[in-house]
Amino acid sequence: EEKVKDESAVSQAPAPIITVTEVKANVSMPEAAKKAFATGADGVGLLRTEHMMLTSGVHPKKFILDGKENELVKILMENILKVVDVFYPKPVWYRTLDAPTDEFQTLDGGEDEPYEHNPMLGWRGIRRELDEPEILKAEFKAIKKLHEQGYTNIGIMIPLSQSPDELIKAKQIAEEVGLRPHKDVDFGIMVETPAAALIIEDFIDIGIDFASLGTNDLTQYTLAVDRNNELVAKNYTEEHPAVLKLIERTIRKCNEAGVTSSICGQAGSKPHIVEKLVELGICSVSANTDAVSDVRHTVARSEQKLILDAARNQKK
Ligand code: PEP
Ligand code: MG
Repeated sequence: EEKVKDESAVSQAPAPIITVTEVKANVSMPEAAKKAFATGADGVGLLRTEHMMLTSGVHPKKFILDGKENELVKILMENILKVVDVFYPKPVWYRTLDAPTDEFQTLDGGEDEPYEHNPMLGWRGIRRELDEPEILKAEFKAIKKLHEQGYTNIGIMIPLSQSPDELIKAKQIAEEVGLRPHKDVDFGIMVETPAAALIIEDFIDIGIDFASLGTNDLTQYTLAVDRNNELVAKNYTEEHPAVLKLIERTIRKCNEAGVTSSICGQAGSKPHIVEKLVELGICSVSANTDAVSDVRHTVARSEQKLILDAARNQKK
C-alpha cells in the first residue's frame, strides 16, 4: 500500500540555520537588495557604489564640475536607500567609490579620464577620492541625510587603504560634512593591499570599527598577478600561503583588539577557505547573493566541527 505523504510537513519552510559567525551579502546593484535579503543574510558586508554611477550614465566628477553636487547626492541617496531600507536594522557597509580609470570612460564626462598603463595599480579607491574630495563629500552627505532619516544601520568602508593617513583624512572629510565616524556610522577599511594587512594595528590605533578583507585585490597585489589578465589567471590563487598569512594576520590582530573582522572577497565563498576563516575566528563572511546559502551551511558545519573537536579532545 502506498504511503500518503504528509503535505503539511513538506510545505513548511526549513528552520533558518543559526550561526554565530555572521553571513552577509555583497550587493552591487541596489535593485537586487530584496533578493539578497531573502537569503537570510545578516546584513550587507559590501555595498558597491560603481553600479550606481554607471546607471546614472554620468561620471561623478561631471556633477561636481557642472555645479550639480546636489544631483549626485540625490542619486546616491536614492540608491543607498534601496538597500538600507530593505535591510534595516541589519547593517549595510557602504563602500566609497572605487572606480579604475578604464571602467568609467564610457560615461558622460568619462572621456577626460586619464590613460593609465596599469589601472589596477593606479588612480582608484581612497587614493583617488582624496585627490577629488568633492565626490567623497557627496557620498558622505548622502549617508548623513539617510542617517538623519533614521537609518542608523549604515557603515562606511574605505577601499584600497594603504596608510593610516588616508583613514585620518577620510574621517576629517566626514566630519566636515557633519557625519561623525564611530558615532553616526561605523567606520572601517578594506584590507586589499599587503601594506594594510601588514600594518593593520596602525589602522586600529587610529580607530576602526571593522576591517574587511578584499581578497580579490589582496590576492592580485600580494602575488603581482593582474586579476583581469587571462594570461596569468593560472597564477591567481587566494590559497597561496602568502595570501593566507596576510588574511590570518589581519583576523588575529583585529580580534585581539576587539575590531570586527570580516571578508567580502571571493575567497569567502570557497568552502575550505571558509572553514579556515571560522577556525581563525572571523566575525563575518560576506558573499554574493547566490552563494550566501552555501556559505551559511559551510560556516555552520565549520562551527560545529570546532565545538566537537574541542569536546572530543577533552575526553581523550
Ligand atoms: C575585493 O577586492 O576583494 C573586493 C571585494 O572588491 P572588488 O572586487 O570590488 O574590487
Ligand atoms: Mg577590491
